[in-house]
Amino acid sequence: MQIIDMPQKIWQSALEQLQLQVSKPNFDTWLKDTKGVSFEKDSFVVGVPNAFVAEWLRERLNPLIRRTLSNVIGRTVDVQFTVLPGEPAPSQPQTYADGGTTTKTPPRTKPERLKISYTFETFIPGECNRIAYAAALEVLESPGAKYNPLFIYGDTGTGKTHLLHAIAHTARSRGFQVICTTAEQFTNQYVLALKNNSIDEFHDHFRNTDFLLIDDVQFLSGKTQTQEFLVHIFNDLYYNSGQMVMTSDCLPKTIPAVNNKLGSRLVGGLVVRLSPPDFETSVAILTAKTAASNTVVPSEVLRLLATQFKSSVRELEGALNCVLTYAKLSGASKVETTMALQALADMSERKSSLPAALTPKLVIDAVATYYGISPDVILGKQRDKRATLARQVVIYLLRQEKHYSLTEIGNLLNRDDSTILRNLQRISQSIKTDSDLSHSIEQLRRQFRRK
Ligand code: ADP
Ligand code: MG
Repeated sequence: MQIIDMPQKIWQSALEQLQLQVSKPNFDTWLKDTKGVSFEKDSFVVGVPNAFVAEWLRERLNPLIRRTLSNVIGRTVDVQFTVLPGEPAPSQPQTYADGGTTTKTPPRTKPERLKISYTFETFIPGECNRIAYAAALEVLESPGAKYNPLFIYGDTGTGKTHLLHAIAHTARSRGFQVICTTAEQFTNQYVLALKNNSIDEFHDHFRNTDFLLIDDVQFLSGKTQTQEFLVHIFNDLYYNSGQMVMTSDCLPKTIPAVNNKLGSRLVGGLVVRLSPPDFETSVAILTAKTAASNTVVPSEVLRLLATQFKSSVRELEGALNCVLTYAKLSGASKVETTMALQALADMSERKSSLPAALTPKLVIDAVATYYGISPDVILGKQRDKRATLARQVVIYLLRQEKHYSLTEIGNLLNRDDSTILRNLQRISQSIKTDSDLSHSIEQLRRQFRRK
């Protein structure tokens, strides 16, 4: 083995082990494009594509990387990260202008797709969404002038994405330039732009638009650099009177790990809530959706659904679809009440427990993502507030939803039974008084049921 190859060979072995220990998206985003640069005395230097990746690895994976490398080498070593000189990524070729000067293309991203059916025509206004609905229409009348940003929040399935896309459709039809994206896509694009050294073009792309619509900003939790970048775009757009609309499943102050600068900007315009559907709106939505099917659903059945499924429109739609499918499979052209009750009973049986395929690892990963930390923090010894809370939520979910024993949970989290029990008691107590916490747990449960 040539001496020059050594660090790279060592790092390659470490990467093979790391691949088994971190999620695939994390591996592909943060580790795949790294290299072993040098190894002297007790210090191993890893080359990374940019400062953002370096910071992320340093903050989240340092202990794991150090442990893995030390295993490969056979003694304890320290790890450092250095930014490698930039290379143009093959998938993002640079374009050359005629004069020979180099101009970079903005990061190529998937075209933003709006859901065709999410328009104002199909959105039923009612008590639960009246203010949000009115505000959405208002920002189209005077973009950037009055309510900037418009911040729409509400539980999952209450119509946030529908309303956001409705704004996008209408604004586009009026000739405005509209960027409608999700916070997740935005983050990925930002990382890609950093990787390709095209951050200026990326910035220009956003700051010159008439409408910037970002869905599910709770996803930015813990994404420090993306948040910073969004603050810059926010300032520019605000100054240029570009209208911003953001949605989230909760208020910025309850999104874990959102910095103050961004949080205060998000609520600096108009904040409106989408509530779970009230009875009249539910019946109106169900009536509209039934009209599109060939099955007759008596109003008695619609009212039954509206009283049973109160937490979100998505749930309401799911129940209606279940009843319609049941009727179709039975060859009936009209849904009788007894049939609807039978369909709903089957549905609730299926929903009562979390999917069997939900492994402890998936639970830990989902909770870690929710709280914006690495899964290793949950498994590790850190005792700060966020790590402790996330660990307790994992314990609670594994116990309540998956019925694991204290010993089994202890083995998964490297702790003894009494520690698990103590944490379980603490969180069970907190849930009773802390509505944010019970809301978070309910959100995680819903997320698991959708898997
Ligand atoms: P969220 O983004 O808040 O999770 P969505 O916008 O995806 O929720 O809405 C969930 C489902 O409910 C979608 O099919 C949407 O069309 C429907 N929906 C929500 N609110 C309404 C409404 N007021 N009128 C008609 N359909 C609605
Ligand atoms: Mg949505």
